[in-house]
Amino acid sequence: MQNTWIKNHKRDAILLVILLIILLGSMITLYLMNRLHGERKEVIITYDGTEIAREPLTENKRFLVADGQIAEIGDDVTLESLGDRAAESRHLLNIVTIADQQVSVTEANCPDHICVQTGPITGKDDGKVIACLPHKLIISVE
Ligand SMILES: [Zn+2]
Repeated sequence: MQNTWIKNHKRDAILLVILLIILLGSMITLYLMNRLHGERKEVIITYDGTEIAREPLTENKRFLVADGQIAEIGDDVTLESLGDRAAESRHLLNIVTIADQQVSVTEANCPDHICVQTGPITGKDDGKVIACLPHKLIISVE
């Protein structure tokens, strides 16, 4: 009788240990997945309330947003290099730069330049966004 009792509970103990290992394993997996996901931040660019681009914060890129149309550009493109096309009266232009895990509006032909003056955001700055209200442009990091 006594022997069977020990045998039964030995099996229970083994089962309990196995369950604990599975539980611990899934907790570690969840933790690692959260960490990985947390580091994969994205830059979200919206024009007039519509998302026009979603780019990883980890890839250094430059974009020209012209009248709500976004295009990737090289390092050589500046508002000055666009000449007459950069005239405020003709197009609404912002150059968005993603570099060193930060995003900023480096150039714009808006009247107030608040978007440029806001400086870079990283997504670690309490939901701070870059807004260019005259151009209906909002840039955030999630
Ligand atoms: Zn602006």
